[in-house]
Amino acid sequence: MTYDLIIIGAGVVGGAVARRLSRYDLSILCLEKEVDVCCGTSKANTGIIHSPSLVPVRTLKAAMTVAGASKFPRLSEELGFDYQKTGALVLGFSKDDESVMEKYIAAGIENYRSAGAEPPEYRIIRGGELRREEPSVNSRVVSALYAPDAGRIIPYEYGIALWENAVENGVRLELGQCVSGLEALDEDEWIVRTTEKEYRARYVVNAAGHGSPAIGRAAGFPDCLIQRVKGQYLILDRNKGPEINHILFQVPQAGQKNKGKGILVTRTVYGNIMIGPDARWQDDDTDTSTDTEALRKVVEGALASVAELNPVECIKTFAGVRPKPESGDFIIESERNFINLCGIESPGLTSSPAIAADVEIRLANMGMKFEACENYQPRRSPIVKQVLSLLPDELKKRIDADSGTEERLICRCEQVPEKRILDAISRGIPVTTIDGVKRRTRAGQGRCQGGFCGSRVRSLLAGKLGIPDDAVTQRGAEAPLDRVTAAEIRRLYKK
Ligand SMILES: Cc1cc2nc3c(=O)[nH]c(=O)nc-3n(C[C@H](O)[C@H](O)[C@H](O)COP(=O)(O)OP(=O)(O)OC[C@H]3O[C@@H](n4cnc5c(N)ncnc54)[C@H](O)[C@@H]3O)c2cc1C
Repeated sequence: MTYDLIIIGAGVVGGAVARRLSRYDLSILCLEKEVDVCCGTSKANTGIIHSPSLVPVRTLKAAMTVAGASKFPRLSEELGFDYQKTGALVLGFSKDDESVMEKYIAAGIENYRSAGAEPPEYRIIRGGELRREEPSVNSRVVSALYAPDAGRIIPYEYGIALWENAVENGVRLELGQCVSGLEALDEDEWIVRTTEKEYRARYVVNAAGHGSPAIGRAAGFPDCLIQRVKGQYLILDRNKGPEINHILFQVPQAGQKNKGKGILVTRTVYGNIMIGPDARWQDDDTDTSTDTEALRKVVEGALASVAELNPVECIKTFAGVRPKPESGDFIIESERNFINLCGIESPGLTSSPAIAADVEIRLANMGMKFEACENYQPRRSPIVKQVLSLLPDELKKRIDADSGTEERLICRCEQVPEKRILDAISRGIPVTTIDGVKRRTRAGQGRCQGGFCGSRVRSLLAGKLGIPDDAVTQRGAEAPLDRVTAAEIRRLYKK
């Protein structure tokens, strides 16, 4: 068959496009090379819904950030993922840093006004007000820009929610299909080839993240110069450590090579402290290894914001790789029924709903007809409906409860019920890996990182898939991840 639209890549950008267009009576197919959705950059990032004050003015990024961020309250409500608008503080360490904060304020105001929106009240806070807002901030911090418009999400929970809802509304998702070739036919039709199959569509959207430049080239677009920049992080144990109320950035300090917002300190939606990322240029977009040298610098940077942080509470390290366009801005171009999305680095997560809206306009301009789909269902029920904190006796009883009972818990650290896992693996997207269960349910996200529940999750998956336990994989391709373990971090920092 000839699809109305093929989307290449199932990250948050492809997901936002798929979900938005699933409102219409269209045949849509997505081709994704991995065994699950959101396995690329959308899996490993900071998860911040950015404040437009921290985005360069007069850029596509700025326009997309203003429009994208404004859509998160409704998206979160409809799709059942948590969005917490905590606000951000950009910390300054000297009086001079306040001139940088003034520039951020001016940028924020300009970015909102150019998008036809009213800016929030940005202001510089100092002394008692600063300590009241953020009691644990380092005594060396003298002032901070308060940006009330920043928020946080769990990025892969958002991505999975988009994709589950798109699939429920009729989008076809083919996993494990790596696009390797494209051909434009005369009558405005594209052939999209993967290593195994051939598909046809009237329109194509290239949302392949690091894979986008090669696909764009094959479709006839000029070369996009994209660099790969890795960022490393530490996650600390849930609900431990000092009070942290906001997302804490830093004014870039003199001599800082990467003029980003310094090492960030925040709590995640679930209450873990997260610190990072640094920025290292590399050739390989698949290299998400972590190393102690980089992580030491991340810790050092984070301690400048919050001196009481204790790296011994680390439960895991991870890294993500940004597709950094040499132009410094997102590349969004369209021609011959093909939309090319390249260099969607930060704030791409924030911008994703706005990029999807832009894609719809471009498709309409290229002649796509939109008819509302009568059965469109905008709502999706959350997977994590409640975070339990049972006392030890009750916890043990429920861990030991019989399989198939309402009470049974699978994961001890995050207190994950068996029925949550069974729900997650019975939705529209095939879940075949232990990591796929981990991202959806939180089983394996706690202190022991799956040491206790990994085999129980494996058995549940094997039962569901009708395969032996040892045929279930951690993440599909089993190349070991070269990551510094939490035990190594504890050894490094134990006094
Ligand atoms: C360290 C770091 C921190 C960040 N922090 C933030 C933040 O706090 N806030 C924010 O707004 N943004 C942030 N970002 C940016 C954000 O993560 C990205 O902009 C966003 O995830 C990009 O989504 P995507 O769908 O374009 O790409 P991806 O998630 O990479 O999705 C592309 C998909 O295409 C697939 N694919 C690739 N090639 C092919 C092929 N040939 N055939 C089929 N499929 C293919 C991939 O497997 C992948 O699933 C951060 C990024 C990094 C790396």
